[in-house]
Amino acid sequence: MIPFLNLKEINKQYKEELKEAAGRVIDSGWYILGEEVAAFEKEFAAYCGVKHCIGVSNGLDALKLILKAYGYGAGDEIIVPSNTYIASILAISEVGATPVLVEPNSNTYNIDPKQIEEKITEKTKAILAVHLYGQTADIDAVTDIAARYQLKVIEDAAQAQGARYRGKRTGNLGDAAGFSFYPGKNLGALGDAGAITTNDSELAEKITALRNYGSHKKYENLYKGYNHRLDEMQAAMLRVKLNYLDQENEARRMIADRYHQFINNEEIILPTAPENAEEHVWHVFVIRTKERNRLQKFLTDKGIQTVIHYPIPPHKQQAYTEWKENKYPISEKIHNEVLSLPISPVQSLEDTKRIIEAINQYGQV
Ligand SMILES: *Cc1c(COP(=O)(O)O)cnc(C)c1O
Repeated sequence: MIPFLNLKEINKQYKEELKEAAGRVIDSGWYILGEEVAAFEKEFAAYCGVKHCIGVSNGLDALKLILKAYGYGAGDEIIVPSNTYIASILAISEVGATPVLVEPNSNTYNIDPKQIEEKITEKTKAILAVHLYGQTADIDAVTDIAARYQLKVIEDAAQAQGARYRGKRTGNLGDAAGFSFYPGKNLGALGDAGAITTNDSELAEKITALRNYGSHKKYENLYKGYNHRLDEMQAAMLRVKLNYLDQENEARRMIADRYHQFINNEEIILPTAPENAEEHVWHVFVIRTKERNRLQKFLTDKGIQTVIHYPIPPHKQQAYTEWKENKYPISEKIHNEVLSLPISPVQSLEDTKRIIEAINQYGQV
């Protein structure tokens, strides 16, 4: 079976370095908020081109901490795409604010800036722009609207570590950004991990306290905070893997390039490649077809594992029964038609060719 994402093979490439980093942490005798977290924060901030990075427990907590630090809660509305992984929306619910869903552009799958303005009310505080599938949202258009209504722009960069928009990296495209380093993300830890980046020093300071019981100084609590820390071991793993992020993103780009070049089947819609190919990091390569389940079965039978990102749109989830009657037809269509092809940075050329060949055979009698 060609796996969708071969995490074992990906991490095996760095096994010696990872073991050495783990050994360093074990030997240090210091496991929470020490040198590794501080060093990773510095290195990831530099990579993104921002002033501050705060390491946290995971991507959902990263988003939640940003919203909390801004003081958003009951009565506030946050704009968020209807086509996203549900964590973007859960973060808003978790602080007690109201998620206001906006449909995506059906070429980029990211939030459609043209549909944002009609959803803005006096209660709107921020736009949570998700860089879905590894491609940045249309940030200039989003920023323009935000500026006119004095809203904050928050990035959900969980799927786009290293992606760029007009040369600038994610994490540096809004007022603050939340990252996830879940093992399957482009920059993946060996467990749960996340981070927040921002150029706002005041915000960074507040988040630094909020992630650690609301405290800067032991046993003195400024805020009703959380335990949402990044631990030393994961920071050490991430420091190793950050060195290879660009290389891995390039490997993903090469696979995406081949898919674009050689998949040729009228029943398949390929994702739109951006003008500057360097900017997309292909967290997933999402194709669309009318009978998605049939294609998935066809590929499974040929020994090719695929994944659906995502099968049920957030507004159709049981967790959000209050949205049961709401209609987001573009999101619903996308959720019914998408299928993600294997895109391991370690995928062999031979496997990529096999996948292309299988897809080109699909539907032919
Ligand atoms: C993975 C992901 C998250 C959540 O990150 P976790 O680390 O799993 O909490 C949030 N938003 C998006 C778009 C994601 O893909």
